[in-house]
Amino acid sequence: MSRVYNFSAGPAVLPEEVLRQASEEMMDYRGCGMSVMEMSHRSSVFQGILDEAEADLRDLLQIPDNYKVMFLNGSAHHQFAAVCMNLMKNRKADYIITGQWSKRAFQEGKKYGEAVALASSEDRTFSYIPDCSDLPVDDDADFVYICENNTIYGTKFRKLPDTKGKLLVADVSSCFLSEPMEVEKYGVIYGGVQKNIGPAGMTINIVREDLITDDVLDCTPTVMKWKTQADAGSLYNTPNCWDIYICGLVFKWLKKNGGLAGMKAINEKKAALLYDYLDSSRLFRGTVAKEDRSLMNVPFVTGDKEKDAVFIAKAEKAGFVNLKGHRSVGGMRASIYNAMPVEGVEKLVDFMKAYEAENI
Ligand SMILES: *Cc1c(COP(=O)(O)O)cnc(C)c1O
Repeated sequence: MSRVYNFSAGPAVLPEEVLRQASEEMMDYRGCGMSVMEMSHRSSVFQGILDEAEADLRDLLQIPDNYKVMFLNGSAHHQFAAVCMNLMKNRKADYIITGQWSKRAFQEGKKYGEAVALASSEDRTFSYIPDCSDLPVDDDADFVYICENNTIYGTKFRKLPDTKGKLLVADVSSCFLSEPMEVEKYGVIYGGVQKNIGPAGMTINIVREDLITDDVLDCTPTVMKWKTQADAGSLYNTPNCWDIYICGLVFKWLKKNGGLAGMKAINEKKAALLYDYLDSSRLFRGTVAKEDRSLMNVPFVTGDKEKDAVFIAKAEKAGFVNLKGHRSVGGMRASIYNAMPVEGVEKLVDFMKAYEAENI
């Protein structure tokens, strides 16, 4: 067996320990004689997996009791719509547009009501986070929407926007569980799990209880109504059982490794290794405003497309894979999620230094 250093933005690297345990439990989950993929979602064994996953997640994020946790089939794109269907009672919402994902959510929002672009960083290719300290938030806006970490562009809200008392809705797909969060500052936190938690196919939604009601847009499919899912404990339809199980193993792994404060320290260390090198390199440079840099996704360029391409090809041969930047940005992007070991980043930086020495 030979594992590579996988810098994919998502689906992304998972902890080896988790993969090993899943493979050990594949044929016979703890004496059941079957895998988790084969068991009834209504069985007591699966209920145990689900309950433990939720309890561990609550523990990790310190989720207050007045927030519900839902494990929902689908992806962030499903929630772009679900957020509006469940919350847009005045049919008006404000969006802060800091990249492709918030833009997609904004465009989806327009289908359900008046979606307003409250601020945007598109003027400089989403390379920064706009000043959100005094935004013209609409009096009748149902929520203010952000994408907290911009996976493609590599920026992160280091400070949450002042929503002037309106609900904050955040897509945290690519920074989920990378550091502690103050859950009570949000109305809704949701994320696709395939970036920093588990396999693709599910979102985790953390929603304040008073926002989970029957008062939703008429067009809302029953299965996408949060109240349906919250009342049924995420078991209205058949959930993504396998995904919930793997996410549960990842939660245990996080708890064993210092929880989210521990992760934050390691993630800061990894990011500093890479950013410090980029800041001192004569060949490579980062592409975003320093104060808005993401801990998870690090885009960089040489400024020469050919050198970028050669670097990516050579890196791949050396076992550093999925370093190609998103097609809308070009260059390179190293996604250094929780499961990327410090050693992977150290070795990548060594490799970049060697490439620099040959090419300067
Ligand atoms: C990847 C990503 C998405 C889209 O996820 P899908 O699973 O393809 O819907 C949305 N938001 C963020 C922040 C992402 O990183």
